Amino acid sequence: MSQDTVYGYLLDALPAAVLVVTNGRMVYANPGAHLLLETEEEGDKPCGLIGRPIVDFVHPLDQFHAISRMRRSAASKVANVPIEFRVLTCRDRVRVVLVTSISVIYEGQPSLLVSAMEIGEDNSTSDRLRRSEEHFRRLFENMQDVYYRTDAKGVVQLVGPGVRRVLGFEPHEIVGRTAEEYYPNLADRDAFKQAILKFGEVADFPGQMVRKDGRVIDISISSSALYDEEGGFAGVEGIYRDVTERKELERELRKLASIDSLTDILNRRAFIESAQDELNAPCDASIVHTLLLLDIDYFKSINDQYGHATGDQVLMRFARAVSEQTWPTDLFGRLGGEEFAILVRHTDPDRVAELVDRVLDAVRTIRLEADGRPSRAVTVSIGAAERTGVDHRIEQLLDRADRALYQAKHGGRDRVFWARTA
Ligand code: GH3
Ligand code: MG
Ligand code: MG
Repeated sequence: MSQDTVYGYLLDALPAAVLVVTNGRMVYANPGAHLLLETEEEGDKPCGLIGRPIVDFVHPLDQFHAISRMRRSAASKVANVPIEFRVLTCRDRVRVVLVTSISVIYEGQPSLLVSAMEIGEDNSTSDRLRRSEEHFRRLFENMQDVYYRTDAKGVVQLVGPGVRRVLGFEPHEIVGRTAEEYYPNLADRDAFKQAILKFGEVADFPGQMVRKDGRVIDISISSSALYDEEGGFAGVEGIYRDVTERKELERELRKLASIDSLTDILNRRAFIESAQDELNAPCDASIVHTLLLLDIDYFKSINDQYGHATGDQVLMRFARAVSEQTWPTDLFGRLGGEEFAILVRHTDPDRVAELVDRVLDAVRTIRLEADGRPSRAVTVSIGAAERTGVDHRIEQLLDRADRALYQAKHGGRDRVFWARTA
């Protein structure tokens, strides 16, 4: 703006800050603006405002509001109502100002003329804002969660210092990049976006992120959608936290709840649940399910002769020996005591017959020896039942296998008995 007009002198002498902003960047700043924003002097000329984005000087919590106001006044011919904003000075101080803006043509370019005046120290609103700013700072700097805000395209605009601990990045390394870059699994990010767009907010939403050191962590996000003055989606604001320890504990508990502690195979509940899921799953007509029910022979006498601890050893060795014969698609579990079950998924009945033979042989190799007592072999009896078109519940299969097992015991033990499939 020309200095040799009355307006030029006025602008120089005005105690208020006056700025011209073209395409979001400052192209003119009067001395009042330099004073307000505490720019440094270079020689006797102030510098540090021209060419810089105006939002750099707006407090993070007011940026969103400031941008939508500027956008609105660019589209209007009248100055907007003065409003209080927090600005950040070059010396990183927060000042509360009253701002208004109007659209103008400056050097041939559509621009915004912004004027701002600091609100006095004695103003109670300003005190309140200052106090809330101090609270915000303390919270922002110290919180364990990561505060973040993105624009509508998912580009991170602001991120809290918690990101150092959670992702191992400095906040400035994250700002300007899209959150997608930290998701190892894009389906997680898509699910999050869909939920935010549909409900406007999400709480404790699960996901994973990759740390700077490459380690994948479990996170939980609570966020809300931001909307501009016209109600359009403008971005997301919220927090995320590292929940890896909690997730690991949950996984451990789930494992503990489904694994038999003595034999390290599925316990009764987990076997029944998984077997039922397997029967419910849609599968090819060529797939057959066979249930094998295994009961160790004369186990009570093993306990009686060798002691309960040896009985436990036999159960562990039995589980290991049988596991070694099964395929990864088979389910193997301990139903209780010395009773076990295998659900075999196959397309060839011969394969099950071979598995049964291998299991009988493997169990026979478990030998019990103890001082002064005769050595003896362990054997098992097996009841086998093939799934038919009417077996929809695992209990039906278990029932038929149990009757077959009784036959195997009755027939002399150490053998298999096949339930009739008719
Ligand atoms: P059968 O050949 O008819 O199956 O005879 P069995 O002796 O194996 O049958 P029974 O069901 O009468 O005996 C099972 C025994 O298993 C009784 C129980 O004391 C023992 N048992 C159950 N659970 C455990 C365990 O966790 N450890 C040990 N050592 N013994 C157990
Ligand atoms: Mg038994
Ligand atoms: Mg038994």
